[in-house]
Amino acid sequence: MTMAGIYIHIPFCTKRCIYCGFYSTTQTDLMDRYTAAVCKELTERKEYINNHIKTIYFGGGTPSLLSSGQIERIFQTIMENYLTDGLQEVTFECNPDDITCDFLQSIARTPINRISMGIQSFNDDILGFIRRRHNSEQAVNAVKLCHEAGFNNISIDLIYGIPGQTVNIFREDIEKAIALNVSHISSYHLSYEEETPIWHLLQNKKIAAIDEESSVSMYHLLCDSLRKSGFKHYEISNFAKEGYESKHNSSYWDGTPYLGIGAGAHSFNGVSRRWNPDNITQYIDGIESNKPVFEEEFLTNADRYNESIMLGLRKSDGIDLAKFSSYIGEELFSHFMQDAEPHIKNGSLIMEKDRIRFTEDGLFTSDNIISSLFLLQ
Ligand code: SF4
Repeated sequence: MTMAGIYIHIPFCTKRCIYCGFYSTTQTDLMDRYTAAVCKELTERKEYINNHIKTIYFGGGTPSLLSSGQIERIFQTIMENYLTDGLQEVTFECNPDDITCDFLQSIARTPINRISMGIQSFNDDILGFIRRRHNSEQAVNAVKLCHEAGFNNISIDLIYGIPGQTVNIFREDIEKAIALNVSHISSYHLSYEEETPIWHLLQNKKIAAIDEESSVSMYHLLCDSLRKSGFKHYEISNFAKEGYESKHNSSYWDGTPYLGIGAGAHSFNGVSRRWNPDNITQYIDGIESNKPVFEEEFLTNADRYNESIMLGLRKSDGIDLAKFSSYIGEELFSHFMQDAEPHIKNGSLIMEKDRIRFTEDGLFTSDNIISSLFLLQ
């Protein structure tokens, strides 16, 4: 039976970044009650997946705001309720300004073996504009402290396409990231999520989005620089040194079951999807009063088809055609091949051996192409 993953959402932030469209809250006084609710949900929902766990991912929000006692309590619950002898990767998202020697010593006593740090930029003006809590010096020191504490699997996030960020500023960001000798880099183009403060600034013409030419230059600069420094571009926005691809995120793209715990968390087991309310009070109250907090939908054939395309094409090695064909059946498979043909002809997609994947240029505009391949429900 396939081993599964657990995602735990820690939705607390001490202040909100202006571009952020994720669910998070500044109500940090609820952290103790929230931890108890997470532990209860972990205990009660283990039947949703095979409880032999391969990966655990603490995402946020800001998991590094949890106290060492709260982190230990969550791990203790996992160890008591799941089979963890095959645990391969445990990721903990951190903010650079939370990284201290004490913090690292306390998480070194847990199964955490991968740190993912939201650095976003090494330029203090850009960091100030997007209202991150840290500055460039804190980010550099945080990565160094992690290395000194023995964590060698470190991922950092970088954002490009921010107003005011020139191609040269982004080049410096990439160079600083490479110099820090991290094993994994996730880099995303800024997107203007509706109702975020940066979206309002754009709507009110207080800022202008960067031009398409600069966006494309930044993307190519990112791909070229990281490739030359030994990183493999293994997914649309993810780059890793050999052997350091994120096992947890790769499981999402491979359709491995996962259980999402906490406010706003999503779960998938191949048969259905479930999602928890993205409202902390509703989540905690529901769990405390023994009411199921999640909503659920069962996957249709069209869902399976669209998901296989969306998840498969995100990866640089693309879709395994033989597996895809046997999963969705011959009729839908030939429908897919017909729809893919114009994109193969114009060089966005490429068919090699028994796989179909994006070319590097195609990856940059992948969202539009992927949605054009979807089956309408
Ligand atoms: S720290 Fe992360 S989750 Fe919190 S507001 Fe900033 S981007 Fe969003």
